[in-house]
Amino acid sequence: MTMVRAASWLGIPDGHPRGLASLPYGSFTDHAQPARRRVGVAIGDRVLDLSAAAERLLPGRAADFASGTLDAFLAAGSSAWAQVRAALTAWLSQDHYREAVEDLLVPAHGVTMHLPFTVADYVDFYASEQHATNVGRIFRPDGEPLTPNWRHLPIGYHGRSGTIVVSGTPVRRPCGQFLPEGRSQPGYGPSARLDFEAELGFVVGVPSALGEPVPAARFAEHVFGVCLVNDWSARDIQRWESAPLGPFLGKSFATSVSPWVLPLAALEHARVRPPSLGTDLVSYLADTGDWGLDIQFEIRLNGHVVSRPPFATMYWSPAQMLAHLTVNGASLRTGDLFASGTVSGPDPGQYGSLLELAWAGRRPLALPDGTARAWLEDCDEVAISASAAGPDGARVGLGEVRGQVVPALAPGPR
Ligand code: CA
Repeated sequence: MTMVRAASWLGIPDGHPRGLASLPYGSFTDHAQPARRRVGVAIGDRVLDLSAAAERLLPGRAADFASGTLDAFLAAGSSAWAQVRAALTAWLSQDHYREAVEDLLVPAHGVTMHLPFTVADYVDFYASEQHATNVGRIFRPDGEPLTPNWRHLPIGYHGRSGTIVVSGTPVRRPCGQFLPEGRSQPGYGPSARLDFEAELGFVVGVPSALGEPVPAARFAEHVFGVCLVNDWSARDIQRWESAPLGPFLGKSFATSVSPWVLPLAALEHARVRPPSLGTDLVSYLADTGDWGLDIQFEIRLNGHVVSRPPFATMYWSPAQMLAHLTVNGASLRTGDLFASGTVSGPDPGQYGSLLELAWAGRRPLALPDGTARAWLEDCDEVAISASAAGPDGARVGLGEVRGQVVPALAPGPR
């Protein structure tokens, strides 16, 4: 039998970012059954109802999708992940499945996407050398841009999982305390320095035991896939509060994620060697495999492309992040999310935050509509999309995370 590559009965052209090489998972409802959440798989401009398809064609795994979220499937582990991906590929490419599957496809524009999984713990790293260097130059102009530990471990902090929201959720400008320029007494009010950070998030499926580090070599056994993250940041609140313990309220008001989780299996062709390998590292961070990823980001502000950060330049790989996250024996839970930190490349057109693009407000970013931004304004919309290197030169789409800034609530008691 001759297999025609990707010539699905769906008629999706080879190399389509939502083709058979992609197959990301999400959670959706539609107008017909708005109260019934289902697990969906994006294919072309449609969504396959996997909750229903599994009941019909793969009953042994149907329980993994019955809740309408990815939670049970994440916990099911790598053999289940491979089994379902192989089944999806067959259903969507082989003609004899068409009759059984076609009525379970719904137009993507008609569905509402939800947070795809229950977020357990949330950690944010700081793995871009260019971003860390830029931040160092901005905030410590007279010192070394990188702290002495930076090239020895992936720096991170624990964030707030309960305020992670799905793409499309409005983001309210936070109020907080900060030290206005040239003052010695802090004030309270809406943040005047609201920013975005374009990041890649890693979704943990299989938990680990308390007290047992997870070696980098077991990365693909524990991590299911990736999503896009916008780590909204209030720079004025962040700067005043974070000495000496790091990010707190300047970050915790909202973090947006894309609705689609792309499995690691779709990223096999995107794997590259991270720059940190080959340097002198402690053992648990050395020889951790080529888990750098050739993923190209694009950031749009009010529809205008303002940056194209390349993830391949990230110094630390997610396998190293996982090893570091657990090296003290901290255990993993299903639904843990760890994000890469802002993705910034070496060129100014590749910076992943407005802090860098407008250099802390000193060089406002000009937009094609004639306006300029030092920081985000109310009603601004930030959209971050990405695609990865796929088979035969194709691109594998990661979708988009989008959010619009809405005005702060009237300031409360001072
Ligand atoms: Ca961040």
